[in-house]
Amino acid sequence: MGPPPRASAARLFVVSGPSGAGKGTVVRAFLSRHPEVFLSVSATTRPARPQEREGADYHFISEPEFAAMRDRGEFLESARVYDNYYGTLRQPVDEALSTGRSVLCELDIQGALAVKRARPQAVLVFIEPPSHEELAARLRGRGTEGPEALSVRAQAAYEEIKKKGLYDHVVVNDDLDNAVNELVRILEGHP
Ligand code: ADP
Ligand code: 5GP
Repeated sequence: MGPPPRASAARLFVVSGPSGAGKGTVVRAFLSRHPEVFLSVSATTRPARPQEREGADYHFISEPEFAAMRDRGEFLESARVYDNYYGTLRQPVDEALSTGRSVLCELDIQGALAVKRARPQAVLVFIEPPSHEELAARLRGRGTEGPEALSVRAQAAYEEIKKKGLYDHVVVNDDLDNAVNELVRILEGHP
């Protein structure tokens, strides 16, 4: 009989990339294969989109509530993204890690880099769209932003993609199944 399998250490994974690259889609498919991984649900001051549910997609809170939570140090990181504030709740992340569960956060680039500064062991994964044209088509197809917000997000993508070299891994989300398989390989590959 060999030695018992070593319990793998809980890791903090951060997925980010331009709006419309498919982060949410890839993460959902990933979690259906790894339901033991804890998904960090952020707080935001952004209004909920029609399909979004409180507590599942985000904790939807007011700006004064957000400021009070930030002042109490309840966020592992927080950032203004486009016109709203977003923050990662420290307590649920640390509780999951302390019970041996890996954690996955979906954050913008500022958030990813802030987490890496605070927790150097964190593994950062950049989800890249196959092209700017495809990114713009996906954003339009999702239909959750008006024309102005669409063009702001498409423009921001150029700057964001320049920073992909700061990440530990880059996954191009062209074919969805391939992208999910790659994310699974990356996360399983970090013992
Ligand atoms: P993000 O979370 O990065 O903003 P979403 O997951 O909301 O992006 O995806 C943006 C849009 O692109 C959605 O309409 C989604 O269904 C679509 N999409 C995501 N991944 C792919 C893919 N690999 N091929 C084609 N469409 C995709
Ligand atoms: P959306 O409004 O489309 O859900 O998200 C906009 C951007 O905010 C996305 O890039 C998303 O990854 C990012 N985001 C979501 N939650 C957080 C968070 O807690 N912190 C940071 N820094 N970014 C977040």
